[in-house]
Amino acid sequence: MSCLLDRLQEEIDTLDALSLRRRRQVAETACAPQQTLTLAGAAAPRTMLGFSSNDYLGLAAHPALAKAWAEGAALYGTGSGGSHLILGHSRAHEQLEERLAEWMSPFIPQARSLFFCTGYMANLAVLSALGGSDAVIFSESLNHASLIDGARLAKARVERYPHCDVAALDAQLSSCDAPVKIIVSDAVFSMDGNIAPVAGLLALAERHDAWLVIDDAHGFGVLGATGRGVPEALGLCSERLVLVGTLGKAAGVSGAFVAAHRTVIDYLVQRARPYIFTTAAPPAVAHALLASLALIGGEEGAQRRAQLLARIAQLRRGLKAVLPADGSAWLADSPTAIQPLIVGDNARAMRIMAQLDGHGLRVGAIRPPTVPAGTARLRIALSASHGEGDVARLVDALGEALSRPAKEAA
Ligand SMILES: *Cc1c(COP(=O)(O)O)cnc(C)c1O
Repeated sequence: MSCLLDRLQEEIDTLDALSLRRRRQVAETACAPQQTLTLAGAAAPRTMLGFSSNDYLGLAAHPALAKAWAEGAALYGTGSGGSHLILGHSRAHEQLEERLAEWMSPFIPQARSLFFCTGYMANLAVLSALGGSDAVIFSESLNHASLIDGARLAKARVERYPHCDVAALDAQLSSCDAPVKIIVSDAVFSMDGNIAPVAGLLALAERHDAWLVIDDAHGFGVLGATGRGVPEALGLCSERLVLVGTLGKAAGVSGAFVAAHRTVIDYLVQRARPYIFTTAAPPAVAHALLASLALIGGEEGAQRRAQLLARIAQLRRGLKAVLPADGSAWLADSPTAIQPLIVGDNARAMRIMAQLDGHGLRVGAIRPPTVPAGTARLRIALSASHGEGDVARLVDALGEALSRPAKEAA
């Protein structure tokens, strides 16, 4: 036994030596820009201004949603009691699926939706169910880990295509004679913030008779006039579209959904193992999500999206004015809430993160292999709940950190 433990410990020690060991912090208060955190190894908690949550609309601690959650628990209790096919599918789940299907009906003919416990499971479900042994999955090279794992779980062959390269994908599809083709892409890339060429991908799907699976984890709630995400922002409509949206990010609760033509949803209910063999999420979660959708689609959602856009513009304007003239740091070309500042090597990213920490600011540093070598970055995530003063503080602190030489003695 001790030998088995030693092997694990050696690997952890190696990560430690490479400064790649991940450590968790403990959040003492609700998700918000100002949050009290106990960092790994620290004796006392600190209140920090954070720029790394996925709570893009600031709904994760919204009183109306906490109230709806409590109301849901009073109505349905805490546990669902079973899987969706065996007793666990409540009226709240059913209402949520109906509402989401209505929401997505402008983009998918005869749309239905299916609610999942997490986005990770939704992606495993879609790819493993649609990607049988007669299929080929064409996977965008910067796809999220859950799509990569979904493709691994599928019996289909997997071909990667280069990032956002519609022409290369067209050539790959042309030389494929599998009866089922599946194109799969993130809508908004999580480490870069850019939006996939979804209209181009959909044109290919139509031309090559393929499914287009779009993971809109970072677009749902945020993009489009009423927050319905990338299909609304780009005006898409097709029965080939299989949309995955997550409900733990901008929607501020938990879970995910798949929206697709009703035949696809019927098929998933019969065949998707990550849907079938798991306990349904608490009905109270679905009840809270109904309240979240009402907020997202209403006036408050529109106001929050406008605030978020104002903060994005402020950050980009502010940072462009303080970027070093030697080009040693640059801002990714992103129109979304994810605003990466690329600084080059790992040590510099870690140094800037430490300098921000000294100012009470928390920004995640992302290093290879999560991103390509030489593009270590600070991944700034903005929220509608950030104030103008919050973003100004970040810009000032980054301006100061960037004014120091890129190569500095450690
Ligand atoms: C967060 C995320 C997921 C996973 O969603 P969860 O609900 O957190 O499991 C899937 N895809 C992308 C692109 C994500 O960013």
